[in-house]
Amino acid sequence: MSTGTIAAISTPQSAGGIGIIRISGENALSVADSIFMPVGEKKPGEVPGYHALYGKVYDEGQPIDEAVCLVFRAPHSYTGENVAEISCHGGLYITKRVLQAALKAGAVPAQPGEFTKRAFLNGKIDLSEAEAVMSLISAKGEQAANAALNALDGALSREISQAAQVLVGHCAHIAAWVDYPDEEIEDIELQNLLQDMKAVREKLRFLLDRFDSGRAVTEGVDTVIVGRPNVGKSTLMNLLSGSERSIVTGYEGTTRDIVEETVRLGNVVLRLADTAGIRDTENPVESIGVELAKKRLDRAELALIVLDSSRPLTDGDKALFDACEGKRSIAIINKTDLPCATDREYIRGRAERCVELSAIDPNSAESLSRCVEELLGTADFDSSAAMLANERQRACCAKAVQTLTEGIDALESGMTLDAVNVCMDSAIDALLELTGQRAGEAVVDEVFSRFCVGK
Ligand code: GDP
Repeated sequence: MSTGTIAAISTPQSAGGIGIIRISGENALSVADSIFMPVGEKKPGEVPGYHALYGKVYDEGQPIDEAVCLVFRAPHSYTGENVAEISCHGGLYITKRVLQAALKAGAVPAQPGEFTKRAFLNGKIDLSEAEAVMSLISAKGEQAANAALNALDGALSREISQAAQVLVGHCAHIAAWVDYPDEEIEDIELQNLLQDMKAVREKLRFLLDRFDSGRAVTEGVDTVIVGRPNVGKSTLMNLLSGSERSIVTGYEGTTRDIVEETVRLGNVVLRLADTAGIRDTENPVESIGVELAKKRLDRAELALIVLDSSRPLTDGDKALFDACEGKRSIAIINKTDLPCATDREYIRGRAERCVELSAIDPNSAESLSRCVEELLGTADFDSSAAMLANERQRACCAKAVQTLTEGIDALESGMTLDAVNVCMDSAIDALLELTGQRAGEAVVDEVFSRFCVGK
């Protein structure tokens, strides 16, 4: 389907034991033949697929490195095309030279995600599986990687395709029944149709319900730590990140910049920002921090509101609850090792969840972790089940649920089957856009533009 032979460095661009240059396309093996000289008699273009050859890479007659060349033949390769993968020594200089040699021999530089895009265009994977490749590359933990691997294995595609198939079956039957009244076409069982539409909708709703908790596990949650000066935000940040990143002092207003860190809490990844205490300040340096903090709070999905249990609540504390209105929030009543002087009941009434801890006690992370897992619904998250991986997939699924609901309403209110069919057709469209079977070029381009070169 795609023309042209492309090449790119597929391993990270830094010093390493091995670097891989991937070449894919009709002429991949002849490009490999002209830059790779095996120690044995047969060149890459002369061996069957799934062969590894040992030899040297040459650039304009000069040996550059020792290497292994893996040969894959269409359609049995990642892209579905002929592929040569040259594994040389890692390191910026060597891998770039091998790539240059491949380009001089007739390959063109691969665009970001072009190998995976070709795999998609050649029917090796569908769009949701291509997105799973990207999730797998950027996975930050075991569960994220598991979920991505299951998606790559087709868990989501199978679920969506089955749902679409049920609808397609009914649509075809209705269309035939409506269009050819004289033929002997089996009558439509309305109850059966309704039941199937509802079952498909249930399945899709289940996927939508799991989306938020799934994202918390795989992509992480934008989280902000807020609280008045000296309540223990930096200490908490350090506890969670396990390092002395924030500056901890007994003086108010020490945290002026926003310290960002990605931390794993139970099975959730938090993209965590420790902000300067949000309050009005005359100090110009500090006011920059305060401005940043307000902006950061605006875009956060989860707010950890830290309060000092050894002091009475102030108006500033109360204002924080107002600022976090509409967000997921956990009130952290800190410094429980000191005598309590705060109003616990007030705090419990204002935040979604509340946890009491002492940030100087290393065991405190555990209770916060449980609280976060409960709030985000990730406590019993099953990463082996089908899961929507990103906003694009979620929007397609939501569209399918919405149009199916319209169809179900139409059927229940006794409208014509034509009307029901139109709704089901839109639902099928949305599902096939999810898997990429009916995705427009712009959608496909958008998906692959987020990849890195070499993938
Ligand atoms: P921030 O201004 O909110 O970032 O507060 P810091 O993390 O800098 O903490 C202010 C002071 O409170 C420091 O002296 C910390 O050691 C202390 N502190 C923080 N958490 C606790 C706690 O749980 N118990 C006690 N006793 N002191 C704490």
